Amino acid sequence: MQSEDHSSMWIGGHWHKGAEGTRPVINPATGEVFAHAPEASAAQALQAIDAARAAQPAWARLSPLQRGVFMHKIAGLIREHAEPLAQLVVREQGKPITEARGEVGGAAEFFTYFAEFARRIQGEILPSDAPGEQIWIQRVPVGVVVGIIPWNYPAALVSRKVAPALIAGNTIVLKPHEETPLSALYMARLFEQAGLPAGVVNIVTGAGGTVGAALTTHSDVDLVTMTGSVPTGKRIMVAAAPNLVPVSLELGGKAPLIVMEDADLDLAVASAVTSRFMNCGQVCICNERMLVHEKVYDAFVTRFVQATKALRLGDPMLETTDLGPKVSQPELEKVEAILAAALKSGAEPLLLGGRPDTPPVAGGYWMTPTVLGGVTADMAIMQDEIFGPVVPVMKVSGFDEAMAVANDSRYGLSAYLFTQDYRRIMQAVADIRFGEIYVNRIGPEALQGYHTGYRNSGPGGDDGIHGLESYLRKKSVYVNWSGSSPVPLMPYA
Ligand code: NAD
Repeated sequence: MQSEDHSSMWIGGHWHKGAEGTRPVINPATGEVFAHAPEASAAQALQAIDAARAAQPAWARLSPLQRGVFMHKIAGLIREHAEPLAQLVVREQGKPITEARGEVGGAAEFFTYFAEFARRIQGEILPSDAPGEQIWIQRVPVGVVVGIIPWNYPAALVSRKVAPALIAGNTIVLKPHEETPLSALYMARLFEQAGLPAGVVNIVTGAGGTVGAALTTHSDVDLVTMTGSVPTGKRIMVAAAPNLVPVSLELGGKAPLIVMEDADLDLAVASAVTSRFMNCGQVCICNERMLVHEKVYDAFVTRFVQATKALRLGDPMLETTDLGPKVSQPELEKVEAILAAALKSGAEPLLLGGRPDTPPVAGGYWMTPTVLGGVTADMAIMQDEIFGPVVPVMKVSGFDEAMAVANDSRYGLSAYLFTQDYRRIMQAVADIRFGEIYVNRIGPEALQGYHTGYRNSGPGGDDGIHGLESYLRKKSVYVNWSGSSPVPLMPYA
């Protein structure tokens, strides 16, 4: 397998150079260019849609079990190549190798999990109003799917889009983020090795503004499923609207992490630290703002700061590293600007981070953690997604205030609650206006769950049977087998 050959994209079962040349891929730990990925033209994006369209009927004609056989093969190949793929994730994205191995495990698991739906995609038979007739509602593939993914999980998110699309009988054009295209290209080699028919999966790499725009404005697409930022999600929805192409969006988050006075503080502190700093704070479900009961605020903050200081910033290839670099220079500068604005608006540093004097590796996009106190609910740091190693903590007087502040957000993806009180748990489940709530635990979300956001976190969702549902559409069939003319009905009379 030519695993280190990143120079071509996979369209219609063939490897293609980018018509727009290549784009350098940078290792965030060193700031050095280590590969060049193909830069597609808009025309190549359209070529990929044509290939997916041509391949779709034959793919859909296979039984789900036959499609599942390919998917189990892919899962096996991902597991077989887990270590080189994990190292590639580290090199292009910067997360610690231990986390990258988890991500690649997830990438394989998505294929296994969705392949198991082969015997579970069902329809319905309804009674007709007339004798000798039946009404069937079948679940059928939507057709051609466009999948667009961000940079924070460049391997797992490929599987999260491709696997449900395939078991449902769809073909797909997937565009990874332009900064992290290599994991998807590597996985394309595995799809090829699994014998996937030409055009069933197409990986096109290049800029959002050209390749992404070409894919999302095309009229011959049946579903656009995108994971990424709110502004891009809005752009995509507008782009797809003239063609009435359905759009499923998984966007940003601003997860509140509520700690009540009766919480298990050891668990709450450890969970809050992991949930903020995993993947250098670059996860949509990350702990983005902590709301802590006044009775345990001091104890929580002392321990949280202590545990945060103990995190080991380091070369992400080392197994001892907890915190790698930010993904890119612009992302580093974005978080620095958010931090500077928070300090200017009155937030008090309980632990002040920034670019380290002596970074673990020279040239990378390094940032040490910051914890901010003295914040109010209306500050930008409490309202806007940070997506980096900075976290505000706010003192609350009780459960009601915590819930009110938590819900005061234009985001609505994940929320966390730490308490032993079952009444508060049930109250939070009823009142929280977020798509998923974690009680006395943190993520990641389960494959069999449903990862969905409210408000600006995006309409749509992935994972589980409900995620799969968006890759299927329904067909109603009215069958008269009576041998005589259908009985005239006047159902609305
Ligand atoms: P982004 O919006 O910048 O990019 C996402 C993708 O959209 C990329 O592939 C990009 O090339 C493409 N794109 C950009 N402009 C486009 C256009 N005009 N038309 C079509 N495609 C276009 O997001 P990002 O910075 O890569 O990712 C970070 C964001 O993703 C964060 O906000 C994070 O919370 C969110 N995210 C959400 C989830 C979730 O499940 N809800 C998961 C991971 C990340």
